[in-house]
Amino acid sequence: MSQCYLLLGTNIGDKKRNLLQARDAIVERIGKITNPSAIYQTSAWGKEDQDDFLNQVLEVETALNPEQLLAICLEIEKDLGRVRFEHWGERLIDIDILYYEDQVITSQRLTVPHPEIQNRKFTLIPLVELAPDFIHPKMNQTNKDLLGLCTDPLEVVKIE
Ligand code: ATP
Ligand code: CA
Ligand code: CA
Repeated sequence: MSQCYLLLGTNIGDKKRNLLQARDAIVERIGKITNPSAIYQTSAWGKEDQDDFLNQVLEVETALNPEQLLAICLEIEKDLGRVRFEHWGERLIDIDILYYEDQVITSQRLTVPHPEIQNRKFTLIPLVELAPDFIHPKMNQTNKDLLGLCTDPLEVVKIE
């Protein structure tokens, strides 16, 4: 079994329900959620045409390898999108792989750790809630330290 951290993001429709459906699909197709973060809201600041985002990070235990994990994440995004917004064909949930154990992966399809972790408070704040002392295998700094260094101006509010 391998431990990974996944980031869920949604800003269309019934956002809490989107997160719930994504978590259900993850349990069914990826593995056990060993620790879910709170849900955080980030205003789409500077992009007034867009609704606020909800984000949540999940610690998940999986038997899938990284490539399989990515394929299933993309499949779940597509399936959830299809269920409720088939006439739009738009994605309403985003699932990113933040970390997979302490592996560093750079392939055409997959970059792990996710290349934006250190730049985004909506990722770092829930990550620090779950794993403050986990060391980013490429930056060699803890999530807590990365958050301290992050200059992202977007406000991130815990909603539950
Ligand atoms: P960002 O990566 O900046 O958050 P995004 O999530 O909106 O942007 P997508 O359109 O969802 O980007 O993803 C585009 C592609 O990124 C995916 O098809 C996938 O192949 C690739 N990808 C690379 N690394 C990762 C990763 N760690 N997690 C998820 N997708 C990844
Ligand atoms: Ca993303
Ligand atoms: Ca994505």
